[in-house]
Amino acid sequence: MKYKTSISYRKEKLKQLLNVIIKHENEIVSSLYNDFKKPEFEAVVTETSYVISDLKDTIKNIDKWAKPKWILPSLLNFPSSDYILQEPYGKVLIIAPWNYPYQLALCPLIAAVAAGNQVVVKPSELTPNTSAIIYKIVSEVFDKEHVEVIEGGIEVSEKLLSQRWDYIFFTGSVAVGKIVAKAAAEFLTPVTLELGGKNPCIVDENCNIKLTAKRIIWGKFINAGQTCIAPDYILVNSKIKSKLIDALKTEIILAYGENPEESKDFARIVNTKNWKRLVSFLENETILYGGKINESDNYIAPTLIDESKLDSLVMQDEIFGPVLPIISYKEESEIEKIISKYEKPLSFYVFSNNTKWAKSIVKKYSFGGGCINDTVVHFSNKRLPFGGVGYSGIGAYHGRLSFETFSHKKSIVNKSTWLDLPMRYAPYKGKLKTLKKLLNWL
Ligand code: NAD
Repeated sequence: MKYKTSISYRKEKLKQLLNVIIKHENEIVSSLYNDFKKPEFEAVVTETSYVISDLKDTIKNIDKWAKPKWILPSLLNFPSSDYILQEPYGKVLIIAPWNYPYQLALCPLIAAVAAGNQVVVKPSELTPNTSAIIYKIVSEVFDKEHVEVIEGGIEVSEKLLSQRWDYIFFTGSVAVGKIVAKAAAEFLTPVTLELGGKNPCIVDENCNIKLTAKRIIWGKFINAGQTCIAPDYILVNSKIKSKLIDALKTEIILAYGENPEESKDFARIVNTKNWKRLVSFLENETILYGGKINESDNYIAPTLIDESKLDSLVMQDEIFGPVLPIISYKEESEIEKIISKYEKPLSFYVFSNNTKWAKSIVKKYSFGGGCINDTVVHFSNKRLPFGGVGYSGIGAYHGRLSFETFSHKKSIVNKSTWLDLPMRYAPYKGKLKTLKKLLNWL
């Protein structure tokens, strides 16, 4: 049975959610800190404020988004009025990751509720403090039949995936994305899969080196590199490689000081398992800067490494941590050789003052989304669809598209009865010639 809710009811619940979220903002920020020392600034900018802004935007626009959309009718159906109705899918499952554990659970939840669905959210078990505050917030606002948070790890997730859903929205790794897709196939459930990838960052010889370095360092080391759209590795023109490295070192020091372990602005790796995975990447690599580690705190310094081989450990999969390989190229053909070795990435960055060249590069390669002369910031424009392609994901969301993601679009032709052209009805004898002429004319 569907849990249908009027637009005014949905809006009312979203307003209540906004109040409760604002009331608990400090608690959310401290949960994120307790989970992996997410700096307060990053917690506010990338999690709490982001969610509040998304929620306000949804409340403001829900009436407009939910309205039937009038479509130009086809002359073949003359006279008719045509429109698209958006209906809730029904029961929606949202599975969230740990790296932006609050935002990536709440934003899909907001859109699914706005679109009129019943929702179950499964936050990540790796960030238990944030998972608990999400549970608390949702329980304060919604009754369980409408929106429920089910906490737990892989077993809980597997159990949820074995049930039938009308839509599944998953954010996480490619490997688990495949598990979700298989489970969804059992019931032909539509999915959004927001996954990851190995995101290249190309730096042309003709660029503003200082600004390039500043923007790469920010995008790479925010959240200690545990960002799905962080630049994964740099491909730099060999002519400016050493200048870029100097500039990158300078920007690390400007951002986090000589000892980033003491900086309040640098997060930790989420758990020892991921810390060990990242530490293993440093073995047999030439460290240009950083490299300091501390297991007791899951700390890895912002680290630059030199000319990693494509078959090295660090260049196999998405790094997802504060380790940045810098690889130089002499010819453009080398860029292609490296990028085409990997699946289509979630994001892609190119730094160049030659706009024509940069535009040709972003046109040439297939990827989810990206920037020319910046990193990560394409995420922040709600009017840009956010999602991957190929192995980096299926579907996209943000802004109005989030509402549409959780809505089935019903196409309706409302045909008038005052005129009924006889052309389409049998017997067809003598009609084909006229029909062909008509179709040609249309
Ligand atoms: P993950 O795939 O390990 O876990 C995501 C969720 O799936 C968690 O809630 C977890 O409990 C659940 N899960 C884990 N293993 C499962 C299994 N075998 N069966 C069923 N459910 C399972 O991902 P993660 O480590 O939490 O997050 C990191 C990954 O997420 C990275 O690859 C990153 O690129 C990606 N990511 C993508 C986006 C995006 O918007 N595209 C955003 C953030 C993170």
